[in-house]
Amino acid sequence: MNNDGITLNLREIRAAAGLSLSKAAEATGVSKAMLGQIERGESSPTIATLWKIAKGFHLPLTALLGEAARPVSEVTGVYETVQFPGSIGVKIVFPFDPLLGAETFQVTLKPGQSHQSQPHDTGVTEEVYVLQGSMEVLRDGAWVALEPGQGLRFAADQPHGYRSLETGASFLNMHHYRQAVLTQRD
Ligand code: MN
Repeated sequence: MNNDGITLNLREIRAAAGLSLSKAAEATGVSKAMLGQIERGESSPTIATLWKIAKGFHLPLTALLGEAARPVSEVTGVYETVQFPGSIGVKIVFPFDPLLGAETFQVTLKPGQSHQSQPHDTGVTEEVYVLQGSMEVLRDGAWVALEPGQGLRFAADQPHGYRSLETGASFLNMHHYRQAVLTQRD
C-alpha cells in the first residue's frame, strides 16, 4: 500500500494528549497547517514528518501508522509494507510492545537510495540487521558497511542514516525506547 491515510489516528492521539493544534505544532516542529491537513486526510505525511510527530508526542512509530499497523492476517501477524513515495518502504514486523519498549520494522531501500533520519526521542537505540543486499549505516558521522547477516546497534537520538549500494537492500530495524514512551495511550 502507499502511505495514503496512514495517520488516520492523529486526531485521536492529539485529543488523548489534550493538545490544541498550536501546542501540537510546538511539540512536534510540524506546522499547524500541516498537522491539520494530515488530520483531515488532505496531505500524506513523509516518514520524516511521522517521526517528528512520534518524537513530539513521545510515541513509538507504530502508534502513528494507523491502517498499516493492522496485520493482514491475525494468525501470522503479517503487515503490509507502507511505501513512502520517493523514499523508503516500511513494514511492521513486531508492533510496539510497552512492556518491552520495542518495535521492529523491515525497511526496504531501492538501489543507491540514501535515507537520513533526524534524532529520535532521547534514549532511543536502534539496531539494523541486514537481510538482503549491501548497505551502509551512518553512525557517529561515519558510514559503516554491512552485508547480509551482519548487524549494528547505535544511539538513534542523534542524526543517523541508511544507504544501499547498487543492489538495493532490505533490513530489520529494531527500535528500543526508554520510559518516555512506555506511558503510550492506546
Ligand atoms: Mn531512525
